[in-house]
Amino acid sequence: MSDQKPRLDWDEFTRLGAEIAQWGADYHRGLAERPVRAPLTPGAVAARFPKSPPEQGEGLDGILAELDEKIVPGLTHWQHPRFFAYFPSNATPPSMLADFVASIVAQQCMLWQTSPAGTEVETLMLDWLRQGLGLPEGFHGVIQDSASSATLAAVLTMRERALNWAGNREGLPGQARVRVYASNEVHTSVDRAIWVAGIGAENLVRIPTQGPLRAMDPGALKAAIAADRAAGYLPAGVVACTGGTGTGACDDLRDVLAVARDEGLYSHVDAAWAGAAMICPEFRTLWEGVELADSVVLNPHKWMGVQFDFSAHYLRDPEPLVKTLAIQPEYLKTHGKDGFVNYSEWSVPLGRRFRALKLWFVLKAYGLEGLRAVLRDHVTWSQALAEVLREDARFEIVTEPVLSLFTFALKGADDAAMIDFVNRVNEDGRIYVTQGKTAGRIVVRFTVGSFACTEADVVLAGDVLKELAG
Ligand SMILES: *Cc1c(COP(=O)(O)O)cnc(C)c1O
Repeated sequence: MSDQKPRLDWDEFTRLGAEIAQWGADYHRGLAERPVRAPLTPGAVAARFPKSPPEQGEGLDGILAELDEKIVPGLTHWQHPRFFAYFPSNATPPSMLADFVASIVAQQCMLWQTSPAGTEVETLMLDWLRQGLGLPEGFHGVIQDSASSATLAAVLTMRERALNWAGNREGLPGQARVRVYASNEVHTSVDRAIWVAGIGAENLVRIPTQGPLRAMDPGALKAAIAADRAAGYLPAGVVACTGGTGTGACDDLRDVLAVARDEGLYSHVDAAWAGAAMICPEFRTLWEGVELADSVVLNPHKWMGVQFDFSAHYLRDPEPLVKTLAIQPEYLKTHGKDGFVNYSEWSVPLGRRFRALKLWFVLKAYGLEGLRAVLRDHVTWSQALAEVLREDARFEIVTEPVLSLFTFALKGADDAAMIDFVNRVNEDGRIYVTQGKTAGRIVVRFTVGSFACTEADVVLAGDVLKELAG
């Protein structure tokens, strides 16, 4: 029986590792030739696999051919130079290599003592990034798996801080009704955090927006808080956004966060996409006042070349978050090690990978200046395309560019015609865009963010859009 046990074959590992690196380089070099979105029907990928697992191991010989045959045709190519949809999700070679290393050493970084390097490099890398972003000293960073998780952690903190931690202890029935405030421009992860935190969608109070950046009206926020207090609710927190997902809306953080602070409310800023751009000082006007926030999240896994998963969560004071999320069973106690950070106490999941390696490799390879150059190009090219479309009588710009994101429509097209246009563009395969809804109408949402993108790719996008506009 013993010869049936899996062998840990390090010779195969070195051979296949080199082959996969070659395969990966070829995949990336050939991306521009492929359609951006997989032209498949549901079930097509699964149909290529046997229905049941193998009883006997067969080794990994032939795995590259199988990847090419079974997997690659089913990929939507997020690293494609002409991926202009959703938001970018970039993987750069240094980050891929770092993830390989992270898998090799396979750390479980829940406590300082379970990975001193994992913990200390996380602290250090998030401090490097903090400096790069221009966030003031005193903000402490932690890596979350996603912005959704960071927002959930922040919303739980809002709830517990307002309830003086009675929610965790006693449950929510019988407690005062907690209220959280946000505009309609925030990401749906805020809605889900509210549901999961047991606060209930009815207690997420929507504050109207104003101005060209669709910013929350701070006067309306103040009034809503006052009305809620008068009605016996318990105002707990404000979620603001820098670069909302739909159209890149930006709240006026200086005003909104000042209201939160005056009212004793916990504040969280969701800058998941736009936050990366704050490494460029000229874009920081978009989040002026961010230093007043209690909690800020941004995703290096979107626009900083550090592939999923890597969400940077900054806390002005980690104490209320840790008080909300830390569990301390006996086996997790690090006796006598007070003063050491245990990052599992800062997040909902307990286990955590060594993700900080990715940011280290990327910053070491490119430096902040290298990353800034990429982002600045994206913003310039995207804004140039907006001008090209504006000059064409068939198009109208619906929301002006915020960094590299703008929305547009075909003049006079109703929603059905717009959906038809988006489908035409995406089925064509040369570019990939997303539809969105703003001010009650369907628009095309266009954002430049792929690290493989060149100016020529954005120009080509303009040509494709014009050609298919009819
Ligand atoms: C992408 C995005 C999110 C969700 O990010 P995840 O890391 O996938 O959870 C949340 N908020 C905004 C503004 C986003 O752009």
